[in-house]
Amino acid sequence: MAPGRGRQVNGEHRQVVVVGGGQAGLAAGYFLHRAGLDFVILDVEPAPGGAWRHAWDSLHLFSPGQWSSLPGWPMPPVEDTYPSRDQVISYLTTYEQRYALPVRRPVHVERIVHAADHLRLITDAGTWTASAVVSATGNWRHPFIPVYAGVEHFRGRQIHSAIYRSASEFAGLDVLIVGGGNSGAQITAEVSRVARTHWVTLTPPTFLPDDVDGRVLFERATARWKAEQEGREAYVPAGGLGDIVMLAPVRNARARGALSTDRPFSRFVEHGVIWEDGSRSSVDAVIWCTGFRANLAHLAALGIVEADGRVIVKGGHAVKEQRLWLLGYGDWTGIASATLVGVTRTARTAIQEISEYLAQAG
Ligand code: FAD
Repeated sequence: MAPGRGRQVNGEHRQVVVVGGGQAGLAAGYFLHRAGLDFVILDVEPAPGGAWRHAWDSLHLFSPGQWSSLPGWPMPPVEDTYPSRDQVISYLTTYEQRYALPVRRPVHVERIVHAADHLRLITDAGTWTASAVVSATGNWRHPFIPVYAGVEHFRGRQIHSAIYRSASEFAGLDVLIVGGGNSGAQITAEVSRVARTHWVTLTPPTFLPDDVDGRVLFERATARWKAEQEGREAYVPAGGLGDIVMLAPVRNARARGALSTDRPFSRFVEHGVIWEDGSRSSVDAVIWCTGFRANLAHLAALGIVEADGRVIVKGGHAVKEQRLWLLGYGDWTGIASATLVGVTRTARTAIQEISEYLAQAG
């Protein structure tokens, strides 16, 4: 079914409308349900899973299953410790059903505007009004690609990790992989099995020790959160969620010598790149593993999206729009808010604040 071609809604009111039905939207739904509030979740995807529906075929979480649960119901144990993309999608699908969360799909929220004492959501399936809105639209629809000199001359293929699916389509090619996080490491690990790869990072990547898995990243995040709550500096090792977890395929790539990195090239030419020292490499394809920006186009009409592409928030609450909360996206909406386990904390706080706001507003 094409987006929004279901029953058209006009002016239906909810106490709370959640925009986005990925993990952050579902966590919000869990706490809204517990708070007994009247709400709906609007999601543009045709089926559950949020951004995980678009992840590459071999993607496994860097966090073990028991560290990847949403509030209420733990992720069922998986054989390989680290759940696969499909296992995450299946978990989110069952989670939604388990709590009978009211998700409407596919509904694209095009814009949110002020309307008297509430917000109006204009969508391709009609309009809703809400006393409070939770925006949980994630980053996947807003991939970031840096600008390099000469890119307009480059004749090879370019894709962002957002739409990368598998290594097979790059077999036998010269492939440049740009970006020093977990995506860059994992994609380099598998593409290097079938192609000649150059991995380009701004600075040398930070690899976690082999015996440390993604849990340490969450422990650091929790230590930072506690310190923030207590108004003190966090005494935790430097590093963040971008440090590279040495999953088996990444360790394997290191053993093959495929994990060496180069600093950025100076410019593109028709069939390759020129490095800082003037040497040239031929390149057939570039995979940009350069991250994402918050997907906030639906908030533009509220006039609260700043020049840096974010909304100013206190916790997850928009400072310039009292009826709006943001969840997910990145640490700026709450430490580890963009992770499965981390979003519980920020969702719980946001829904508490919304309940108080609605009680006061009468
Ligand atoms: P999304 O999953 O993007 O969900 C947002 C939803 O909103 C989507 O369904 C989208 O279609 C919808 N939407 C967007 N715009 C609109 C609109 N205007 N109207 C209606 N609907 C809209 N996290 C972990 O906890 N552990 C890991 O090991 C881990 N590994 C990762 C590995 C990679 C390579 C990446 C990229 C991320 C990883 N993450 C991990 C991070 C994180 O879990 C995901 O980024 C997660 O998908 C974010 O969830 P979300 O709900 O905020 O956003």
